[in-house]
Amino acid sequence: MHAKVEGQIKYLFDTPPEPGSVRPLLPGLDWVRVPLPFVLDHVNCWLLDDAGPDASVTVIDTGADKPETRALWETIFNDTLKGRPISRLICTHGHPDHVGLAGWMVEKLSVELHMTLTEWLAPQVWREKGLKPMTAATKQFFASHGLPEMAIAKMDQAREQAPFQSYPLPSSFVRMRDGDTRSFGGRSWKVLVNGGHADEHASFYCKTDGILIAGDQILSRISPVVGVFPSQPQAEPLSDYLKSLHRLRKLPAETIVLPSHGLPFRGLHTRIDQLIQHHVGRLGALSDLMIKPASGIELAYGLFPKAMAAKGQTVMALAETLAHAHHLVHAKSATRYVAANGRITFGRR
Ligand SMILES: [Zn+2]
Repeated sequence: MHAKVEGQIKYLFDTPPEPGSVRPLLPGLDWVRVPLPFVLDHVNCWLLDDAGPDASVTVIDTGADKPETRALWETIFNDTLKGRPISRLICTHGHPDHVGLAGWMVEKLSVELHMTLTEWLAPQVWREKGLKPMTAATKQFFASHGLPEMAIAKMDQAREQAPFQSYPLPSSFVRMRDGDTRSFGGRSWKVLVNGGHADEHASFYCKTDGILIAGDQILSRISPVVGVFPSQPQAEPLSDYLKSLHRLRKLPAETIVLPSHGLPFRGLHTRIDQLIQHHVGRLGALSDLMIKPASGIELAYGLFPKAMAAKGQTVMALAETLAHAHHLVHAKSATRYVAANGRITFGRR
C-alpha cells in the first residue's frame, strides 16, 4: 500500500517569478505569477506567442477578480506586451482563480474565450446560487454529515459576506472537447479533458515539444482538491481523478509539466505516483478511522486535524474526507448508513 515512489522531480526554476512579472520559460511561452486572495496565494498563468505575422498572444487562465489583479493584467498588456493583440483566452476550468477575470478580459480586449462546456456553465450556476443565502439542501448536506446547527449558521453568515471573486462570464464562448487538436501559441496541442478536481478540466499536451499545460490536474507540491460539495452530495470524484492520473501517466516520463500552482517541473510519472500514493494513504487512514461508524465531520477531524482546527477550512476538509469515504463505499470497502433522521455515517466493511 505504501510502496516507495521511484524517480525524481526536477524543477525548471527553483523560484517563481515575482508577482506580476513575466518570465520566459520555454521558447514562445512565458510564465506569469498572479497573486490570489486565498489560502493558496498564487496561480500560474501562461502567455503563448502565436508566432503569426500580427505577433498575437494566447493567454491561459486569469487569476481571481480583484482590483489589484486587474491592474496587474493592465500592466502586462500595456507595458510587457506593449499592446500586442491577444488572440484568445483559454481557461483550464471554472474555478475562480482560473476564470475570475475571463469576462473582464473578453469585454476589454474583445477576445474569444475557449473552455469546456461544463466549466463555462459551472461558475454561472455558482454565481446564481451563491449570491443567495444558503439553501435548505446545503444546510441539510452539512447537517447530515454531523456539522452542528450553530456552525452551519455561522458558515451561512460568512458566505453571504464573502466577496464574489469572479467577473460574470461572457454569454458566448468556443467549446473545447476531449481529444480536440488546437493550434495556439505556435504549437499544436491535444486537449485532454478530465474529471476529479473539476468535472471537465482541460489540460493541453504538445507532443512535438513534450509539454503538458496541466492546469490543476497535476500540481507540483500540493495535491489538487478532490472533494464532495453540496451541489452533488453523492458524487464520487476520486475515481475520476485517479482515472485521469493513470491516463496522464501514459504521456512520456520526460514531459515538461506546467502546473497552475507551484513550479514547472520534469518528472511526470514520479509526481503522478506520489499523488496516487497520497490518496492511497488517505484511503487507508480513513478506513482505520471507520472501525466504528462515524460521521463525515468526525472522520474529517481524524483525517485533517490541522485544517479542522483552522478557521474557514471545514468545508474543504469535509469535502476531501467525503471524496475518500465515497470512494471506499464505491470499492465496497465501506458502507454508507443513512439514519431515519437523515444523519449519514460511514463504517468499514
Ligand atoms: Zn481548481
